[in-house]
Amino acid sequence: MDCKPSVLLLFLFSPVCQGHLTSHHSNEVNLLDSKASQGELGWISYPSHGWEEISGVDEHYTPIRTFQVCNVMEYSQNNWLRTNWIPRNSAQKIYVELKFTLRDCNSIPLVLGTCKETFNLYYMETEEDQGDQFWEHQFSKIDTIAADESFTQTDLGDRILKLNTEVREVGPVAQKGFYLAFQDVGACVALVTVRVYFKKCPFTVRNLATFPDTVPTDSQALVEVRGSCVNNSREAEPPRMYCSTEGEWLVPIGKCLCDVAHEPRGVTCQVCRPGFYKSSPGNLRCSKCPPHSHAHQEGSAHCSCEKNYFRSEADPSSMACTRPPSSPRNVISVINETSVILDWSWPADSGGRKDVTFNVVCKRCSAGQRKCEACRGAVRFLPRPAGLSNTTVTVADLLAHTNYTFEIEALNGVSALSSEPRQFATVTITTNQAAPSPVAVIRKDRTSRNSISLSWLEPERPNGIILDYEVKFYEKQEQETSYTILRAKGTNVTLNGLKPDTIYLLQIRARTAAGYGGSSRKFEFETSPDSFSISSENSQVVLVAISSAVAIILLSVVVYLLLGSRFCGYSKSKHPDEKRLPFVRLPGIRTYVDPHTYEDPTQAIHEFARELDASCIAIDKVVGAGEFGEVCSGRLKQPSKKETCVAIKTLKSGYTETQRRDFLSEASIMGQFDHPNIIRLEGVVTRNKPVMIVTEYMENGSLDCFLRRHDAQFTVIQLVGMLRGIASGMKYLSDMGYVHRDLAARNILVNSNLVCKVSDFGLSRVLEDDPEAAYTTRGGKIPIRWTAPEAIAYRKFTSASDAWSYGIVVWEVMSYGERPYWEMSNQDVIKAVDEGYRLPPPMDCPAALYQLMLDCWQKDRNNRPKFDQIVSLLDKLIRNPSSLKIIANAPSSPENMLLDRTGADIATFCSMGDWLESMHTLSCKDIFNGASYSSCNTLAKTSTEDFKQVGVTILGPQKKIVSSITALETHAKNGPVPV
Ligand code: AMP
Repeated sequence: MDCKPSVLLLFLFSPVCQGHLTSHHSNEVNLLDSKASQGELGWISYPSHGWEEISGVDEHYTPIRTFQVCNVMEYSQNNWLRTNWIPRNSAQKIYVELKFTLRDCNSIPLVLGTCKETFNLYYMETEEDQGDQFWEHQFSKIDTIAADESFTQTDLGDRILKLNTEVREVGPVAQKGFYLAFQDVGACVALVTVRVYFKKCPFTVRNLATFPDTVPTDSQALVEVRGSCVNNSREAEPPRMYCSTEGEWLVPIGKCLCDVAHEPRGVTCQVCRPGFYKSSPGNLRCSKCPPHSHAHQEGSAHCSCEKNYFRSEADPSSMACTRPPSSPRNVISVINETSVILDWSWPADSGGRKDVTFNVVCKRCSAGQRKCEACRGAVRFLPRPAGLSNTTVTVADLLAHTNYTFEIEALNGVSALSSEPRQFATVTITTNQAAPSPVAVIRKDRTSRNSISLSWLEPERPNGIILDYEVKFYEKQEQETSYTILRAKGTNVTLNGLKPDTIYLLQIRARTAAGYGGSSRKFEFETSPDSFSISSENSQVVLVAISSAVAIILLSVVVYLLLGSRFCGYSKSKHPDEKRLPFVRLPGIRTYVDPHTYEDPTQAIHEFARELDASCIAIDKVVGAGEFGEVCSGRLKQPSKKETCVAIKTLKSGYTETQRRDFLSEASIMGQFDHPNIIRLEGVVTRNKPVMIVTEYMENGSLDCFLRRHDAQFTVIQLVGMLRGIASGMKYLSDMGYVHRDLAARNILVNSNLVCKVSDFGLSRVLEDDPEAAYTTRGGKIPIRWTAPEAIAYRKFTSASDAWSYGIVVWEVMSYGERPYWEMSNQDVIKAVDEGYRLPPPMDCPAALYQLMLDCWQKDRNNRPKFDQIVSLLDKLIRNPSSLKIIANAPSSPENMLLDRTGADIATFCSMGDWLESMHTLSCKDIFNGASYSSCNTLAKTSTEDFKQVGVTILGPQKKIVSSITALETHAKNGPVPV
């Protein structure tokens, strides 16, 4: 046996081989590892001289058990080695990894038998351990195993061991366990290790879902595995993954979200730390508590508000806690008879919210304010008393001469949550005298051929003791060119001397100490035809037989004679020979009625404007664009009237009800006016579409464009004539109690005879519509350059503020449509005007007109001229044209340009720098000082070019400076020139 070849010696492992014995993948589960056993493995070897078990050590000198066989010197070898029973566990497919060495047959001298270089691997499945029984024919062959590397004796001498590793798959396996068997047929082989394992997809956490250990199927199919959300998380979309046959997880789908108050950290969901919150499930981190809130505990879904701070139901958790607003400030009341406009400033502290609204409570207070009670009755708030988003409200229909207190409260989305006492701003007012409201109900009691008897109800709001009623009537056909006025002490009247079978229109208005109220709407009545002497609609009056007609007529005559002493009857007629009562126009105080005070706006429009039949209107072309739609020119042909040219304002389609009302409000206002210098309303079309307002046509369009088109083409008298017309229209408006608020050349229209008429009426829209109107800090929209300082500062719009605007219009007219204050910004204009600066006289402007402008621009509105004074002044100038010869570019102007009339004379400034300083134009002063324009003489010679050189290029200051220089020059030569 000396010559029996040796197979291997395990302790001869060389370092090159070490890598093959390292640990296995984590997705492999061992069913058998021969290396793990340090005692005898006890495998069955058959025949017994075949495979033999020997002990060795591995590379770490750990003892291991190996099997070897090397019967190459003998024939017909059939040596079996069978493992112990290996439970299958959950495996469906098993892997057998063999590490072995095999000796090269060529390297064995004197081989007698047939030396082999392979061995065979078998397996057999059983439901249970069969002990030592072994029947080779029951085994199934897995494969013949050949060595990739065999070794020679020389190799051994060189201490190089060639270890082979082979892996074979077996499956599907189904029974409870199995055996492996190694058949040697004459090789020289050593089984170093035998490892049997199966693969699994190991437990893992993906997208916050855990997936358990999963054994793949034997087939190629993937195993779908449902994951479970980690603690403190919930499924957003069912988590799933697939386990491949190789034990790898594939295609994660779905995910879990950390619960409220938990955030993802690594593969877990952890509670939010104190000071942090998370209000909804998700995988975002917890957020820091927003301002004025805190979370003292960990795991907070929301942060609690600090004391006196709140969160409304609609507030998101991420929003800061807020508090109720402070009270409104600076309440201003503007009383107009029995209505008051309340206006206030935004609260100093809005509580950190944007949803601030205002509520206004009206209280009626006794003198001394000791006893107040809630306002009862028909007090109206425009737009409403509560939930106001703007800082203004109009309260109408108050009682005349009564004390009221208004409490204005600011509220926001958390006011209801606070138990703190509420804060109000209060204002107390006393209403003025007021004219009565219009008579609303008129009844026809009796009609005859020549008379009509009427009665009516007292106005709903008499606002005082009614002194009498004015009854105005006229034949419908005559269109108000001839009418009669009667005055009645009571609430009935009989109109006598009428034409038979004729339609009459009639209006009634009541008068108190405060003047006339608004007129009723027009009522239509018809006298009886000749064939009837009496008709009656009132059941109280019974028709009698025709034979008694004479008696009735006689009675009428008596009534007429009796009433004659009660009524003053007057008639104005174009036909003096008609048998009418003599006409005397009563000195009635007509007042403008705000159409917005009508609950039903259509009532206002029908009261003040005539409904035109759309078929009477022919549209020719578009001449302009208004806020609500196109403005067209066209013709109006009414029955039995001459065709006239008209302007037609249309309301574009798709309007809202508010737009329709605002559009028509202009007609409701215009329809109340009747003056040659106010644009005349012909009527409206409201029953057809498009809705239209029809006015007289003004061939030359708006005044500003007209003047720019005709620069320097008119005589001064022509210009003054235009100004006179505008002033006369404004006088009429101010007499009516109407404040225009947007008087500017662009809102004056000019006809072919150069007659100027005031236009652009409306309420809210007046300023919305004007492209010049800019928002002030107080929220209203105001055409800054045309508006008086008090109207800008606190919306004190009066006829005196209209007078300021008129002054600007005079300036626009005299400068042929120049833009007031040129390119200065609105802010600079406000500042300059406030500091006393005024526009300089336009070129060649008569001093008297410039003086008129300066008077209109008095800071104290009481010092501004009234429109009747302006009309008289202009009339005087027109009558005496030489008064217009003195031109304002003279020295009087610079002094006037400074409101601060401290007596400083232009001549006292000895350098341009000093003068500019007095004008608050320091930046210019620096330039001038720097450029050594220091003496008056030098200054006087300064040309426009020179200004450009030193950097003064804005037209405004340049003009101002040039006109001041002219002033200096003239002053030096002549001394002051009187205005
Ligand atoms: P308004 O909406 O009133 O500002 O009108 C817009 C433009 O239409 C004006 O600037 C005028 O050019 C023109 N326009 C308005 N009314 C008339 C009118 N009665 N006659 C001629 N053109 C008018």
